[in-house]
Amino acid sequence: MTSLLKTLSCADGYDPESLNAERARQIILDLVEPVADVERVGVREALGRVLAEDVISPMNVPGHDNSAMDGYAVRFADLRAEGESALRLAGTAFAGRAFEGRLGAGECVRIMTGGVIPAGADTVVIQEVVRAEGDRIVVPAHQRPGQNVRRAGEDLRAGTPAIRAGKWLRPAELGLIASLGLGEVAVRRRPRIAFFSTGDELASIGTPLGEGEVYDSNRYTIHGMLARLGCEIVDLGVVRDDPAAIEAAFRLAAAQADAIVTSGGVSVGEADFIRELMARLGEVAFWKIAMRPGRPMAFGRIEGAWLFGLPGNPVAVMVTFYEFVRDALLKLSGVSPVEPLPRFRVPCVTPLKKRPGRSEFQRGILFREDGEWKVRATGAQGSGVLRSMSEANCIVVVEHARGNVEPGELVDVQPFDGLI
Ligand code: AMP
Ligand code: MG
Repeated sequence: MTSLLKTLSCADGYDPESLNAERARQIILDLVEPVADVERVGVREALGRVLAEDVISPMNVPGHDNSAMDGYAVRFADLRAEGESALRLAGTAFAGRAFEGRLGAGECVRIMTGGVIPAGADTVVIQEVVRAEGDRIVVPAHQRPGQNVRRAGEDLRAGTPAIRAGKWLRPAELGLIASLGLGEVAVRRRPRIAFFSTGDELASIGTPLGEGEVYDSNRYTIHGMLARLGCEIVDLGVVRDDPAAIEAAFRLAAAQADAIVTSGGVSVGEADFIRELMARLGEVAFWKIAMRPGRPMAFGRIEGAWLFGLPGNPVAVMVTFYEFVRDALLKLSGVSPVEPLPRFRVPCVTPLKKRPGRSEFQRGILFREDGEWKVRATGAQGSGVLRSMSEANCIVVVEHARGNVEPGELVDVQPFDGLI
């Protein structure tokens, strides 16, 4: 497997010792390919899955010409150009209960929204403008031909794609699929992601903390982030900082997963043996990304499984996951196109310390003041402070070239939660 490094050395802007964060994201995205396997699932089970084939509409939507308003279906030719026209009420057309027969000259039909336009009729006059006198309906002048009629196939023509392959299926798509009368759809297999934490200092929850130990929290944040992306998760637990144990974990992970996510062991001091190991087992572009937090981060491949070696710091794990791994796993899942997390520009009310020459991802709180959205930094920004991540509702992205941010300056934010 020499292809990975060959592709990278040709890529412009590739400097494994200090890669621009935007460039890193693009390189990862370009290399990862979607899982090939496809399965058919029922409409409900399709939520959060990725469509593998276009959904072709088997019918016109709407299926018939129908009324957009409550009113009267008429033949436009019966209406006089000037003055009122009196028509004879011939029946009703309600949603689900059509008018049978054909509209004769000088006739109209009472019609409700969604009601099928009777044969012969071509126009709907809204009920608010007519005058009913027994079974005579008086229509004012200046109606337009075809008004208030929704045409069959106007939303979607039979035989055309209703949803394109690559779509991440949300409630709107489930409804759309059901509206076409389809019971199941083709989706990609969920990608299988193996992960483990590394560190001699890590204790698992349920055991008392020894001297100098910390609980393994990354295992839970990573679990949560993978689950949210709809991945199948293989949890390989905590692995000690021991080359043989880490090698065994890598082999075990690569044998069963499409991608491997690890945390810890990539910073100075620990990096060398892990890097050596990764290089021996597969291919590694060991990156120092020009960013904070998350400067050390490994990306590579071991036996056909993509490898993301995230830093150990709990906040750095989350930031690197959102900025790099998320996109890669969406692509692996078959999402197309993979859109970057949306960013919005808002004024920042607190000063931000920032060094030019690296992208910074700080924890922020978006809030509304005087009808305007603004952001402020959370308190402690240390990359070990997981609480800052919990308090935050967005990431403040301060671009590569920028320096300190003064209060009132505009910054980019990525909200954590969206409408799904
Ligand atoms: P490392 O990248 O392995 O040098 O870890 C950097 C920092 O993150 C150290 O303070 C570690 O104790 C901490 N850390 C590493 N892995 C975890 C983990 N799984 N859960 C919580 N903290 C961790
Ligand atoms: Mg460590």
